[in-house]
Amino acid sequence: MIVMKFGGSSCANATRLRQVADLVVSARNLRPAVVLSAMGKTTNALFAAAVAAERGDADAALRLAGEPLANAAEAAAELLSGPHLATCKSALQQMQDELQVLLRGVALLRELTPRTRDAIVAHGERFSTTLLAALLRQRGLPTRHVDARTFLRTDDRFGAATPLRAEIAQLARELVAPLLTGGEIVVTQGYVGGTREGHTTTLGRGGSDWSATLLGEAIGAEEVQIWTDVEGVLTADPRFVPAALPIATMSPAEAAELAAFGAKVLHPATIQPAVEARIPVTVRHTQRPEGNFTTIDPRITGHSRGSVAALACRGPVTVLTMTSTRMLNASGYLARLFGAFGQLGISVDLIATAEVSVSCTVEPDAPVEALAAALAGHARVEVATDRTIVVAVGEGLRRLPRLLERACRALGDLTPELVSFGGNERNLSFVVPSADAQQAMQQLHAEFFETAALRDGSAVVASSEIGS
Ligand code: ADP
Ligand code: ASP
Ligand code: MG
Repeated sequence: MIVMKFGGSSCANATRLRQVADLVVSARNLRPAVVLSAMGKTTNALFAAAVAAERGDADAALRLAGEPLANAAEAAAELLSGPHLATCKSALQQMQDELQVLLRGVALLRELTPRTRDAIVAHGERFSTTLLAALLRQRGLPTRHVDARTFLRTDDRFGAATPLRAEIAQLARELVAPLLTGGEIVVTQGYVGGTREGHTTTLGRGGSDWSATLLGEAIGAEEVQIWTDVEGVLTADPRFVPAALPIATMSPAEAAELAAFGAKVLHPATIQPAVEARIPVTVRHTQRPEGNFTTIDPRITGHSRGSVAALACRGPVTVLTMTSTRMLNASGYLARLFGAFGQLGISVDLIATAEVSVSCTVEPDAPVEALAAALAGHARVEVATDRTIVVAVGEGLRRLPRLLERACRALGDLTPELVSFGGNERNLSFVVPSADAQQAMQQLHAEFFETAALRDGSAVVASSEIGS
């Protein structure tokens, strides 16, 4: 069994859906479970509809939510015919009716709870999977459309639900695996889950990747394929660095680190279930299935890549610099400082310390005024907003000769405001003003990936060693 996950751009219209169906047909013998995102920008439109409804603007809400349905209906008309079209259209209409009732209710009350918002935005994946399942059936494949809410069990933190993996394993073994072993193709929604009480939840934006590895873990898949709009994980976000190169293999830790630091190609939580179940994750281009792709191989651990694997950046973040107003060497200072962070629920990403001051990065919406008030008398807090973290990731990076020298030389006149190195083996991070982030990425990329040797030797960057 394998899991094939297709992202929003991979199923954005009739042409793309046809390509998805082709790929599923050609993988048929591998017993695929298909995890699908919402088509194109549907989820954004549904969030916007929910916001309009909360304002009380029912007309705007219905208009915004009508667009994705019109899109799905148009694709259905182009792809399907006869009874397949009729059944699909009536299923879509039923979901649309439900969506309209929800939006009208929100508009009437002018109240949007996280639970209702999840019920609204989950419609994107419900539309797209209805359509793909119909298309596969029309092609003569035995296909089962399985509602993710029945097996992707989560807690009730609506909007950012935590999957309950033991329950998912049990439910998927009961509800999904037998269909696959019986020769049916399963089509289910990414991003969407359900609580024990049957309420709809979502895993957070971009969460379909995570759905795929959660399902893969639960059914013991041989591979989880993430089909998207790039030829695998690249050495940098191609929107920032057009010269980015495909990466052939990566360790799970490298992939997880990149995702955590902003590489949107994978949701940050995607890797963990796959690593624990020792399932390889591949990242592939839907429109170039014969092209390069990346394998994130759980057998790669603790090796040394001997180079930077990839760059990523994440911003905006805020840099806080806390300078002690008390004596030097006062013990318990850091404990008091970070005690205040803990009480205010502020999470810290990067940190650098000097004798009397500490700098760290926090999310842009962190309550820094409350923090400054809580620390009054202990530390003065300076705040620098609109900064971006630029990271180089690679196994064994810390042991790379001349790494810091090369990185600093590459940055040239761009002076990082904070540097973090050695917190783990595989991450070197710089904080720069957001306006400089792209230039920093490009200059680092030129240094680590565009030298003559690399260009000639390996257009595709391979990992040096695979352990047992
Ligand atoms: P999907 O809708 O298929 O989930 P996403 O838009 O979420 O696709 O992720 C793919 C995008 O991630 C790419 O188009 C690219 O712009 C971006 N991206 C960021 N960093 C990287 C990277 N290191 N390698 C590849 N793509 C990246
Ligand atoms: N459709 C959801 C989103 O746009 C989930 C996903 O695509 O991964 O965030
Ligand atoms: Mg995505």
